Amino acid sequence: MPNRNPRYDLLFDPVTIGPKQTRNRFYQVPHCNGMGHRYPRAMAEMRGVKAEGGWGVVCTEECSIHPSSDLSPFTLMRLWDDADMPVHELMVEKVHEHNALAGIQLVHNGFEVANYVTRQTALAPCNIPTEPFPHVQARAMDKSDIRDFRRWHVDAALRAKRAGYDIIYAYAAHGTMTLLFQFILSRYNQRSDEYGGSVENRVRLLREVLMDLKDAVGDTCAVALRFAVDELLGADGMQKTEAQEIVGQLAELPDLWDVNVAAWHNDSMPSRFGSEAGQEDYISFVKKLTDKPVVGVGRFTSPDTMVSQIRRGVLDLIGAARPSIADPFLPNKIDQGREDEIRECIGCNLCTSGDALAYPMRCTQNPTMGEEWRRGWHPVRIDKAGSADRVLIVGAGPAGLEAALALSDRGYDVVLSEARAEMGGRVIREASLAPLSEWRRVADHRIYMLGQRANVQTYTESSLAASDVLEAACERVVIATGSHWRGDFFGLQHQHPVPVAASARVMSADEILKGARPDGHILIYDDDHYYLASAIAEQLASNGAKVTLVTPESDIASWSEHTLEHEHIQVRLRELDVEIICNKRVRQIDAGEAVLECVYIGRESRVAADVVIPITSREPGDKLYQELLTEQPAWADNAVKSVQPIGDCLVPATIAMAVYAGHEYARNLDQAASAGTFRRELGLGGE
Ligand code: ADP
Ligand code: SF4
Repeated sequence: MPNRNPRYDLLFDPVTIGPKQTRNRFYQVPHCNGMGHRYPRAMAEMRGVKAEGGWGVVCTEECSIHPSSDLSPFTLMRLWDDADMPVHELMVEKVHEHNALAGIQLVHNGFEVANYVTRQTALAPCNIPTEPFPHVQARAMDKSDIRDFRRWHVDAALRAKRAGYDIIYAYAAHGTMTLLFQFILSRYNQRSDEYGGSVENRVRLLREVLMDLKDAVGDTCAVALRFAVDELLGADGMQKTEAQEIVGQLAELPDLWDVNVAAWHNDSMPSRFGSEAGQEDYISFVKKLTDKPVVGVGRFTSPDTMVSQIRRGVLDLIGAARPSIADPFLPNKIDQGREDEIRECIGCNLCTSGDALAYPMRCTQNPTMGEEWRRGWHPVRIDKAGSADRVLIVGAGPAGLEAALALSDRGYDVVLSEARAEMGGRVIREASLAPLSEWRRVADHRIYMLGQRANVQTYTESSLAASDVLEAACERVVIATGSHWRGDFFGLQHQHPVPVAASARVMSADEILKGARPDGHILIYDDDHYYLASAIAEQLASNGAKVTLVTPESDIASWSEHTLEHEHIQVRLRELDVEIICNKRVRQIDAGEAVLECVYIGRESRVAADVVIPITSREPGDKLYQELLTEQPAWADNAVKSVQPIGDCLVPATIAMAVYAGHEYARNLDQAASAGTFRRELGLGGE
């Protein structure tokens, strides 16, 4: 194994945080994961794997301190009373097993909760509607509420200390998500008592909570503050001058400053709208105002960037949520001189949808994420091959590439055949759109890793027919031949053909993904509702085309709300003068124009359209698989034991699902049928 590059030694220095010391500078900041109290074993195992992978600090997601901050239906952490302790003890045990420090982010969410389960009154600095439950308001806190609020923090902190946590957070970040930040923001704090008005008054509650925490647990636990230094709202929100004043006032009070920008969609900026280290300009002032260590995030995956952040005095600790999700072993890889093997986060933010939709998080790059406990999948350990069978994989998209890599890890001999000159499938094609360029990391990482393997033979420009597959005489055949975008509008809205005039021009999304860049007036019809239609609109509008984006939904790219892309997409398309038409479907395409109809009352309208691009649904590219099925009698004569379609060829879905399918195939080959099932979580969590 190669040795660590001395250039990166700095990343492995210990850092003192109050009464604790980290083993290195790798710090997994608090992040949600859709597991929390409802899937506690899965959550704890996932955190433990990160500690094993070298993260010096591993934190929880936000952890509610009281039933008046009931985040249901979302699945986060709770520390309301002793009944919650087993979940936390398990989390701490898993993190300590690998000598990392365990951190917990205590929170009260003020008016950002609906209290759907507990039915308690939400609390806020002033009387204001709750965000998740319109028509229901939060109550302005009086002095006794403020005393209670402080006591709840202390009670939760004492329990956290008892559970074994090393770092205990006060949380005043992510825009309006926390009560402590709501008090600081003048737009929400309209109080006339000593908790409102001047900056000093608005920060008073945070100062009191920090002092309470230090008194209660500061002897053995570090007290951290997560604070948003800018909301990117200009004068309407927190920005540098006020943040400087606040950091200056609290400078040495917390043992650690964990700083970022708000709101969450700016903090976890999708790669489409921001690159690595994108927060530096906002947060770099903090270290100048405090002697306490500072941690910050920036989707850091390059050790050179990390070292530069530390050398230039921007950060002391390299914070990461997404990079630690995409590669839980990132620190160990740098430590072992294998930084070229880091599986870099692509910034797609599929992981954040786990929080938004309350399901166990998944990751496009890391198929084992969320499966560590329930399926026993470890990011770097995998069972040895169960036979000497050779595996032929047809198609080198994300499914085929991942299957090849995981099978190779198991020790199988693999032949990977790809029709095109370049491997990567849909990822390479989608990444040819400038907004999605970082997504090619899904292919790049796997192609690089496969290049190191002696047991994998790859062939490009090698389109296989059924006869070729049989002649290859491999015992196992995997068909990963992908899918095609339909050009006939079939999808959620249209199950019958849309009439298209002979002289009208309809172009499938695949033609754009292969490089076509039509100009003139382009109409993109989006009945897919995720990222692709808006990415194509952005690309074509940037090239100078006049673009209209039509959707039958009430909003464009509606599902991208769950990946924190939605707001940025709205801004970008408007900046590019893309015309947006909602609540309409196409009825008919004529030469130079499309006829639309209102989804509610059917009223028709016409819009100019030289070219129409439907993005509605895909057809599995399973022709080869179907041919092989007809040849089934010949399989045994050619030593073929099984032929398995995977990924988009079986069912078109996300890139993450294709990667998962490839990985699952590899894990399950030559295993008992029970390997395909997962353990259920019963008992420990609950409401
Ligand atoms: P997935 O997301 O399931 O991995 P992709 O569409 O990304 O699917 O990738 C499928 C890949 O399979 C494409 O790169 C395509 O060129 C390749 N392919 C399709 N048919 C064949 C074939 N008959 N022989 C070899 N490669 C093929
Ligand atoms: Fe990164 Fe996407 Fe994985 Fe999230 S889902 S960690 S953004 S690669």
